[in-house]
Amino acid sequence: ETRTLSKHYRIGSALRGYRTLRAVDGISLQVERGEVLGLVGESGCGKSTLGRCMLRLTEITAGEILFDGRDISRASDKRLRPLRPRMQMVFQDSYASLNPRRRVGDLIAEPLRIHTHADGARRGEAEIAERLGELSHLVGLPQSALQRYPHEFSGGQRQRINIARALALSPDLVVADEPVSALDVSIQAQIVNLFMDLQESLGLTYVFVAHDLSVVRQIATRVAVMYLGAVVEIGPADTVLHSPAHPYTAALISAVPEPSVGVTTRRITLSGDVPSPVSPPSGCRFHTRCPSAQALCSMTAPALQDMGDGREAACHFPLLT
Ligand code: SF4
Ligand code: MG
Repeated sequence: ETRTLSKHYRIGSALRGYRTLRAVDGISLQVERGEVLGLVGESGCGKSTLGRCMLRLTEITAGEILFDGRDISRASDKRLRPLRPRMQMVFQDSYASLNPRRRVGDLIAEPLRIHTHADGARRGEAEIAERLGELSHLVGLPQSALQRYPHEFSGGQRQRINIARALALSPDLVVADEPVSALDVSIQAQIVNLFMDLQESLGLTYVFVAHDLSVVRQIATRVAVMYLGAVVEIGPADTVLHSPAHPYTAALISAVPEPSVGVTTRRITLSGDVPSPVSPPSGCRFHTRCPSAQALCSMTAPALQDMGDGREAACHFPLLT
């Protein structure tokens, strides 16, 4: 759970002056056990930053983060350490996150060597070897892969290695940051299917960050749409993706080529670029590009409000009521 979570960066220099980049700006949301929350929005909207904040891989600027009811907002590394096995991340760039000089088996086993059991006992080599066998089977890697090096594998196989590594300690929550975006389209489906199978068989909870709505539609049970550091719409995936209430969600959906995704409305072209998160527009952050904007929109920021169908949207003039 995040409560008015913010992550701001100071950018610039002493010479030119400093400014504040509001990467995540007051986000409150909950991820329920066993669900897949898809986090969508254009690049730079803060979705990766939000994912990293949720796992406390970075300090936060303001607000709170609760993990399984425990406040970890400002927990030290030492206090976070026993929780680390329960929360893991899978990154987009499967190559950069794997040390090229180490064998795949060692890479997957690393978390098992770093972390002890909950009772403080270290894992022995026999236990680690057995777990490696289980993990490679789980993600569909042949046993022989464990002796080889990352560069010997395709992008899809490397992502299997990353997933095995993330699952080594049997986490509850996995934040996956664009885990298939760097892969060929034909391989993407295989890896998305793997994520789905693992979620079901292991009862995992995912926060699945993606800019590709067709991927999110496949895997997410709920969707949160982000724009300029804020959530503008959140709710059940079917509801949000088939009958968006927020004009920004509607525009994102209309940009997806497959008619199977969402409503088959005409394409909504957004005017202008995404404004800078250093100086977001007044009132509704989307008003500079919104086809439905009215005078009120530039003056008053709309809060997320219940649309009566299990979804919330932040808009003065939602597309349906
Ligand atoms: Fe568009 Fe106004 Fe709604 Fe913002 S509040 S999304 S500008 S209609
Ligand atoms: Mg990102």
